[in-house]
Amino acid sequence: MYSLLIFSLFFISHNSVGSTEELDCQDNSNSLSALSEALVIKCPTEDEVILKNVSQEYQKYFGKLPKKTATIGGLSLQGSQKEIDIALISLGEKPPKDWSKLAKSCSTVFCAFEKNLKSKESAFQLFNIAAKSGYVLTLDQSLNPRNLNQVWSPAEIREMDAAVNKLPKELKQLKHLKKIERMVDGYRIEGHNANVAAFATNYDFMENEAKIVMYDTGLSEKSSGLMAYDSVAWPQEVLVHELCHHHDYNGDYDSYFSSEYYSMNEDKGFSTLSGWKKTLDSHGGDKWVYSTNAQFISDYAKTNPIEDYAETCMNYVLHPNELQRMVPLKYSYMKKNVFNGADFKNSPWNSLELNWPALRSLVADENGCSLSIAKCLEELNFDGQRLNIPLTIKKSGNTISTTYVDGHPFKNIKENQCVKKMRSDRVAQFINFLSSQDDFCQQGGEYGVLKNANKICAKAENLLANMLNEATSIQLFPLISKCQNSTTTQLTCVSELFFKKFPPPIPEEYKKIVKKVIDVRFQNASKKK
Ligand SMILES: [Zn+2]
Repeated sequence: MYSLLIFSLFFISHNSVGSTEELDCQDNSNSLSALSEALVIKCPTEDEVILKNVSQEYQKYFGKLPKKTATIGGLSLQGSQKEIDIALISLGEKPPKDWSKLAKSCSTVFCAFEKNLKSKESAFQLFNIAAKSGYVLTLDQSLNPRNLNQVWSPAEIREMDAAVNKLPKELKQLKHLKKIERMVDGYRIEGHNANVAAFATNYDFMENEAKIVMYDTGLSEKSSGLMAYDSVAWPQEVLVHELCHHHDYNGDYDSYFSSEYYSMNEDKGFSTLSGWKKTLDSHGGDKWVYSTNAQFISDYAKTNPIEDYAETCMNYVLHPNELQRMVPLKYSYMKKNVFNGADFKNSPWNSLELNWPALRSLVADENGCSLSIAKCLEELNFDGQRLNIPLTIKKSGNTISTTYVDGHPFKNIKENQCVKKMRSDRVAQFINFLSSQDDFCQQGGEYGVLKNANKICAKAENLLANMLNEATSIQLFPLISKCQNSTTTQLTCVSELFFKKFPPPIPEEYKKIVKKVIDVRFQNASKKK
């Protein structure tokens, strides 16, 4: 009897990861590409870098192996025994329906996969993933309903490769696990709703294997380019979560077929950290309860001990700093008992900064921003009610017309054309300076600067916006009465009191702009008096 027991599901649950109020510098791209043209150093694109890396990796694993010929999906193809083995597992019982058509001009196994995946990079990655982890991404369509066909997209395979690159040795070559399948978009096996992202199957003794199956929902929200390798996107979390289930079961599920919840950690060790107890619900089914002081890394981890384990294990690998901060006990448990003392807090995908001091210090340097921003806002107009900042300045003949926009200072500064231009000029300046460094391209060059572009001058812009915001909403009467006996003019005294509210140092050039706002409000307030 063939039965597919599913011991784990994973529903979509979004970790909200650091959305900031940082300014958007996306509009830098035009001036940047113009600048790159002029630069002596021409870096390869992100796609080119990835293709080169995965090609070298492929050479390392397969390049020197002797070749032979085998029949694969009805075609006679050449490749190493290792590639042939991977190809046969990947195609499985039912190759994609266009397999032969797409690969008919090919003489090698690699070429056939390249044509079917419609990407050289993807073909390298599919074989590399198998060599690195022992897991084969399948193109097998037997899982899908009749006539429905779908293979992994290049972006999805890149994401899987990026996830495998992050795996510690404990999550590779797991017993019985051979295949990672991709189910056709929109389709679910019985019992799963649209929110299920993936599932892991237990060991099937008829097939002599266990699997992970990814759904469309588990492959959404991909990262792009090099980002996939030095950051963490949703599909990577899903895959690592499922691998953690297999690790939890530790191959012991092969003789056990009756329970959905049979894990190595269900009733001992890890599970005692949350005081997990199995009780009965009102219908006589299993209901898991945890002790009131238990801490969890996500809401999904509160489902039962096995999801608690998988979520904690996934976060240990991909988001260790958050895990240690939020659930220190479980972090320590994982480090000691699961990952043999290794931690991943300093892994590239966990460090927010590029490993490039020259860029970091440039980004941190706010000097120069203040003056430029202040210059941009010289035409600031305050009508006593609203703060207006020039949005566009048009010159036609001898007349200059200015369009003002009213609203929140943050928004106004953000959308100010002059500030935007100042920011992209500064990014260009950084690239110009950094491109003289030897490791410019290796460190991601342009990419690194762009990635950090949101931080450039953002501190200065936020400080000024905060001050303007405060200045437009400040209650002036208490300040005016405090300044009644002042030896300076009352307005100067009021401004000085206002500046004391902000932590030093406030750039001198901001004071002029803020004074302008207070001035108008002061005149109005005095008139009313
Ligand atoms: Zn799960």
